[in-house]
Amino acid sequence: MKRKLSPISQQKNLTAIAKMLFLAVMTVVAVVLLQWQPEPVVAQDDNGVQIATGSSWQGASFPVEDFRGYSSPFGYRISPTGQATREFHSGLDIAAPMGSFIRNWWSGKVVEVVNDDRCGVGLVVESGYWDHIYCHMLGDVNSASGQDYLIDREGGVLIRNGQYLPAGARIGRVGMSGRATGPHLHWGMRYNGEWYDPALVLRAMYGEQSQVSQN
Ligand SMILES: [Zn+2]
Repeated sequence: MKRKLSPISQQKNLTAIAKMLFLAVMTVVAVVLLQWQPEPVVAQDDNGVQIATGSSWQGASFPVEDFRGYSSPFGYRISPTGQATREFHSGLDIAAPMGSFIRNWWSGKVVEVVNDDRCGVGLVVESGYWDHIYCHMLGDVNSASGQDYLIDREGGVLIRNGQYLPAGARIGRVGMSGRATGPHLHWGMRYNGEWYDPALVLRAMYGEQSQVSQN
């Protein structure tokens, strides 16, 4: 005759099952996290070779192809439209000829296709804790089936909100949409939701490259 389980051992069995379920769920979560977390710091160069490192800037790309200079730094400044008040400039302005290609700084996911009076046509890309923002681009923003797209036909660029972009990908072209007095890329960065000076990122990127080349 089969022995009936006492309520206490049933309880124990249930606890064991709950523990096993918990472990199984945590294993799945861990696997998903392990697969997902390195993604923002994994970039692909043009040969498709992975450069994976959490502390190196080697996966990063300079954001414009035809660099002409920095036209306005990050921080407080006099308003470029002549208002007497000081305003906070949340990014670095990089001057480049109209139509110069903009490159995605770091592999990541498009989390916003922007179309407003200030930024003009732009993109926000999320790479782990970083958001990188591109403004004043050429092209239009269209919506189809509930998705926003940046479309720059002449530049051969079509970017969908939610799309993953490799580092260095051409994501649009320099224009002067929104509030801009000349063609430039307004390049903004947020780390963990806080504005961050892109010049510091560039300094880190190029400081590291010169160290590498000296070795
Ligand atoms: Zn700007």
